[in-house]
Amino acid sequence: MNMFDMGIIPTMARTLRTLALGFRDLLLPRGCAGCDAPDEVLCPRCVARFDGAHIRSLPVKGKTCCYACARYEGASRRAILAWKDHGDEECDGAFACCLARLALKVIKVIDTNQTAIDDVQAMPQIAGMPDIRGMRDVLLVPAPSSPASMRRRGRWQMAPLAKRTARMLNDSGVRTRVCPILRLEGVRGRSVQTSGSLARSKRIQGHVRAVGAIDDESALVVIMDDIVTTGTTMGQCVTALRAAGARHVVGLALACTPVRR
Ligand SMILES: [Zn+2]
Repeated sequence: MNMFDMGIIPTMARTLRTLALGFRDLLLPRGCAGCDAPDEVLCPRCVARFDGAHIRSLPVKGKTCCYACARYEGASRRAILAWKDHGDEECDGAFACCLARLALKVIKVIDTNQTAIDDVQAMPQIAGMPDIRGMRDVLLVPAPSSPASMRRRGRWQMAPLAKRTARMLNDSGVRTRVCPILRLEGVRGRSVQTSGSLARSKRIQGHVRAVGAIDDESALVVIMDDIVTTGTTMGQCVTALRAAGARHVVGLALACTPVRR
């Protein structure tokens, strides 16, 4: 067992990060992660950018799709990069809120029309809370990060986001659990890069695996990721989760990259 497995290095890295972020907050006033508007973690205009429902079908056998809160461009891209790569962990709460809102819409779609998991036209424009009485349980599965990116960032950024989103869904009356059973292994390079979709697809092929089983066949299993580009990673997650016993799987992301034609 090495020092990373024992949790010593992650704990040290985390302490150093917390200290560094503390000093930064003392020296620099807080600005919106998306547009630098003063004194906001994420200003109302930037929050509104995450209020969408962008739908991508996933490249996987047996149709399913991913719903994203925003397009990965402009201020929403800046906010995600600040959170993901520059340690702006204060965005956890704001992003979880956006994901929980979209999750409620998605749950509504799927439970009112069982065939709608891949139906692009089915997303309703819901004002306020949908009626969630009698809906099935939800399992939130954070998309895996590679050990290298966890070392670099000092954390598995989707795990705290999934926890907070689960808390919000539970507060809204949807029975939700976090089920962090996916792992990403043996992947080199950064997750979002300029290489083509084919190269990316090859790079990640076969590296996502489930280290546990889905114990509730009727549950809606929601894979949560930050950015969906080609959908390859999420497709791999769907395959791994189905092999682990999931029957109803759908993706949920903060943002998707604009589709290139
Ligand atoms: Zn803003």
